[in-house]
Amino acid sequence: MLWPPATTAAMARHEIKKQAFGMTDSGEPVELYTLTNANGMEARIMTYGGTVVSLKTPDRHGKLGDVALGYETLDGYVKNSPYFGAIIGRYGNRIGKARFSLDGKEHTLGKNNGENMLHGGFKGFDKVVWKAKEVKSKDGVGLSLSYVSKDGEEGFPGNLTVIVVYTLTNNNELKIEYNATTDKTTVVNLTNHSYFNLAGEGSILQHELMIDASRFTPVDAGLIPTGELRSVKGTSMDFTQATLIGARIDQQDEQLTAGRGYDHNWVLNNVTGSLALAARVYEPGSGRVMEIYTTEPGIQFYSGNFLDGSITGKNGQVYRKRYGLCLETQHFPDSPNKPGFPSTVLKPGRKYKTTTIYKFSVK
Ligand code: BGC
Repeated sequence: MLWPPATTAAMARHEIKKQAFGMTDSGEPVELYTLTNANGMEARIMTYGGTVVSLKTPDRHGKLGDVALGYETLDGYVKNSPYFGAIIGRYGNRIGKARFSLDGKEHTLGKNNGENMLHGGFKGFDKVVWKAKEVKSKDGVGLSLSYVSKDGEEGFPGNLTVIVVYTLTNNNELKIEYNATTDKTTVVNLTNHSYFNLAGEGSILQHELMIDASRFTPVDAGLIPTGELRSVKGTSMDFTQATLIGARIDQQDEQLTAGRGYDHNWVLNNVTGSLALAARVYEPGSGRVMEIYTTEPGIQFYSGNFLDGSITGKNGQVYRKRYGLCLETQHFPDSPNKPGFPSTVLKPGRKYKTTTIYKFSVK
């Protein structure tokens, strides 16, 4: 008889380890948690920004490779990060002219992106230290992160209590559950800003992408939606069938010019609010497949157009233009100023709850 039995040996690897990961400029200690599932897949998440620091998944030969962009040490994240792997809030994506009205009251926000607000402002949820609690179930290993965003923080009304639970399941999924409550009416749009490269290095232009969306929200030159929901049919935005990201990215198209590539919100076909497949990415070289399931109505596909080679990340890799892609599940950008978009308003006594799953496999 084999001893220990295979299942026990595998379960032994289904674990969480915690280590110190340095300190922020204001002297707050940061911890790094390593989550390993029964198959050996590994996710490293730190308390600064609730950031996914690395994600090791098997290729078609079973060899683990890191598919997330980022830095090796805390320093890079603190000094200069284009939101690598972080939790984004209180409002993911842009709010036009950095202002909105709620119940007749105008709220003025920080303009950290031209005249607009991007990803929650100058100090969004990506730049705060979250409180962590380990959670373990037979389903997988997890980390529950909490943060209380004070009334008036970055201009938003209401004390917002946020809990984000990451679970690495034994099904090779990174599941993210976002929960929030408020004591004053506010707006909330939480997401994760991981940059993926399923090859582990190089350009993402040879990745194949499918997005289950027949429409997208066209933008103006400042990347603020015009309010229109436009059909993708016959345009370079059509990913209803799996298509190479590089196939049409440099076509003459006013939308691609505005985004310098893909940097748009797709209107997902699933409008039920229950978990459904939103997108699938396939990288033919490694065989890696990533599927994204979400309860959200939208997804921002950002093809890493602003990466410019100025950042050297993990393993000495230079992150050049389009070396990573983001698929940020979300409510639509600028919803607080777009009455026709699904609402992002959260009222006291109500619960904000969304779920997104990144599922890894091979083909
Ligand atoms: C936005 C891009 C922005 C990037 C910052 C994305 O979510 O859509 O416009 O440049 O975040 O890293």
